[in-house]
Amino acid sequence: MTEISRLTRAIRTGLEWDTAVGAVVPPIHVSTNYRFETPERRGPYDYSRSGNPTRDLLGTALGILEGGQPAVVNGTGMGAVSTAVLACTEPGDTVVIPHDCYGGTWRLFTRLAERQHLELVSVDLTDTDAAVTRVRELRPTLLWLETPSNPLLRITDIAALAEAGHAAGAVVGVDNTFSSPVRQQPLDLGADLVLHSTTKYINGHSDVVGGALVAREPELAETLAYWANTLGTTGGALDSWLTLRGLRTLPLRMRQHEQNAAALVEVLTRHPAVGAVHYPGLPDHPGHQLASRQQQGFGGMLSFELAGIPAVEAFIDGLGCFSLAESLGGTESLVCHPGLMTHAAMPPEVQREAGITPGLLRLSVGIEETDDLVADVAAGLDRAGAVPR
Ligand code: PLP
Repeated sequence: MTEISRLTRAIRTGLEWDTAVGAVVPPIHVSTNYRFETPERRGPYDYSRSGNPTRDLLGTALGILEGGQPAVVNGTGMGAVSTAVLACTEPGDTVVIPHDCYGGTWRLFTRLAERQHLELVSVDLTDTDAAVTRVRELRPTLLWLETPSNPLLRITDIAALAEAGHAAGAVVGVDNTFSSPVRQQPLDLGADLVLHSTTKYINGHSDVVGGALVAREPELAETLAYWANTLGTTGGALDSWLTLRGLRTLPLRMRQHEQNAAALVEVLTRHPAVGAVHYPGLPDHPGHQLASRQQQGFGGMLSFELAGIPAVEAFIDGLGCFSLAESLGGTESLVCHPGLMTHAAMPPEVQREAGITPGLLRLSVGIEETDDLVADVAAGLDRAGAVPR
């Protein structure tokens, strides 16, 4: 038989795994604890914080998708970030993060730095040459990338930064939440570690909060698993089961997210009310060439700029197919104001430096009918355009 692709192997993870009754779909193991044969003789599992069979199935599927070790599955994406930073750094170590990363990630690293857990430097990693030079100078222990970035969809050269990071002795981690593992595989590009907020595209139905870490090498995977258990950040069985179910339709969903995003980008780029559209699929996006090389698609996230808050309010007020909400990657379309919502933890000057303006809106484009989304956004832009400047 020919070799089965990563996607098919991941989608089929856990099927026919049950030996008790021959169920095709795997059962959920909710038991907190597992029987020992004698005090010295235990089976593969003892206590569900340390290990759980249902969680392990999700970890296996994610490891296959990213081309790494089985994932360490966490209760939230931020639990995964916390686990990674504590597993990979000692007090006083230098950590480099992107200047425009997800607000919660920025808050965690910043608060840890304020408490002297680490030396933090935020760098514009999208300027590859300058970033490589900075990494050489700073010699960080952990180099954190997020590409495409949240909310401006900036693209970082994973291969170039991984090489620079390794030469400087860093562990190189990539937050791959925006692309999902069906559109970008950072480990194949040289990264050591991939992070997902599985809350987003991987689960895909906005009904589970979760996170995951996939390491390239077994040693790092073991360290991450040790710290996840020690910190107590591991994910629950029910959440893992739901996330594995969601993952089975990830490639299919991604195609519709992208088809819809491309249609909306057309409308946005043509409308006079829109100052700028941030989508790596646009030929004039500064990261377009790079994204074309390192991604297998441009994803379902985009952001764009209106004239200011009154125009933003006019756009949002009256939308029929977009919910005003945080998070992303679900089947439903969402609109969000990063400055006041997802990135509110960043003070105004940090937002300004990151390029987050008052007129910026982010769309998580869902899988609804394309024409409905196009009509909804076009009407919203007309409302925004009618607001006096
Ligand atoms: N990374 C990115 C890019 C995110 O957008 C988020 C959440 O929005 C996280 C990490 C944190 O994940 P969670 O909300 O599951 O804790």
